[in-house]
Amino acid sequence: MQTKTTQLEIIENLHLKSKPVGDQIPFGTVMTDYMFSMDYEEGKGWHSPKIEPYAPITLDPAAMIFHYGQTVFEGLKAYRTADDRILLFRPDENFKRLNLSSERMSIPPVDEKLILEYLKELVSLEKDWVPGTKGTSLYIRPFIISTEPKLAVSPSRQYKMMILLAPVGSYFPGGLTPVVIHAEDSFTRAVKGGTGMAKTAGNYSAAYQAQAAAKEAGKADVLWLDGIEKRYIEEVGSMNIFFKIDGEVVTPAMNGSILHGITRKSVIELLESWGMKVSQRKIAIDELFDLYEQGKVEEVFGTGTAAIVSPVGELSWKERTMKVNNGEIGELSQKIYDTITGIQNGSVEDTFNWTVEVE
Ligand SMILES: *Cc1c(COP(=O)(O)O)cnc(C)c1O
Repeated sequence: MQTKTTQLEIIENLHLKSKPVGDQIPFGTVMTDYMFSMDYEEGKGWHSPKIEPYAPITLDPAAMIFHYGQTVFEGLKAYRTADDRILLFRPDENFKRLNLSSERMSIPPVDEKLILEYLKELVSLEKDWVPGTKGTSLYIRPFIISTEPKLAVSPSRQYKMMILLAPVGSYFPGGLTPVVIHAEDSFTRAVKGGTGMAKTAGNYSAAYQAQAAAKEAGKADVLWLDGIEKRYIEEVGSMNIFFKIDGEVVTPAMNGSILHGITRKSVIELLESWGMKVSQRKIAIDELFDLYEQGKVEEVFGTGTAAIVSPVGELSWKERTMKVNNGEIGELSQKIYDTITGIQNGSVEDTFNWTVEVE
């Protein structure tokens, strides 16, 4: 693409906010001073990349995003090391997945390398917003919306891509706390051929009703089963799921409806580097409960950018309940958490080359 339209413009913010103190910021409630935006028009491609003061945007009420939800998003984080370097964790994977989600939603792809350069510029400008206390980070939210003002049901010919930054406190301020989850028996999150493997808005709002019912029953989240037989385990709200069964680590195989988690991928690569076998296969909920009754289920944990590792202390399904590892965090879960967060905050050597430094 022509350099003129890909030249990054930076518009100064003359009214900088005061930064929040402490690390108790509720997730995604505080934004930094700047945001990135870039526009797309059919025939012209992506153009006019800008870093500009954070502010509301104006859209035509007929913009297609409001009517048909043609949109995708990503989530990653920047971390501050003890020697004050700023690291991104596998950002190339996020932009690769953004384009995969976009393909599913008929949104034109972005240049993955170029967008990473823009992100680095943005984070570099907002360096002081990356918190430094244990467990904190700067959450990064890239997203694309369809902006063409037209009510016809067809792919938009105009889009806006934006990147927002939000400092976040520790997910587990008091150390890793196991959660209680419930296997959902009536609602469906996704089916093969649907949009489950895309990070697109509707998947998440469609899950609220089941999650609200689970919360009502005192559970933290829902474990989704396959949409057809309601038997094979898929994933949790925004986390992939792992089981340690009789010494072996098992996670549901990618099947077209499960989100390709980057933390999932990293956990698999890490375990394999430790010489452990990770089996990616179909796992039925009844099989899991049978294995539990034989005393073979040792650890259960979710993985995702928000928490990295979220141990599961209790899992229920129909009238059956399993208490995992006495409701305590397992040794392997803790080791994975310590290693990945250590790589992210620079205290563990990054032998995988997962981190990208922001100058
Ligand atoms: C984002 C997400 C995950 C986790 O992906 P990470 O890349 O590890 O953060 C898992 N499941 C769903 C449905 C998600 O949206």
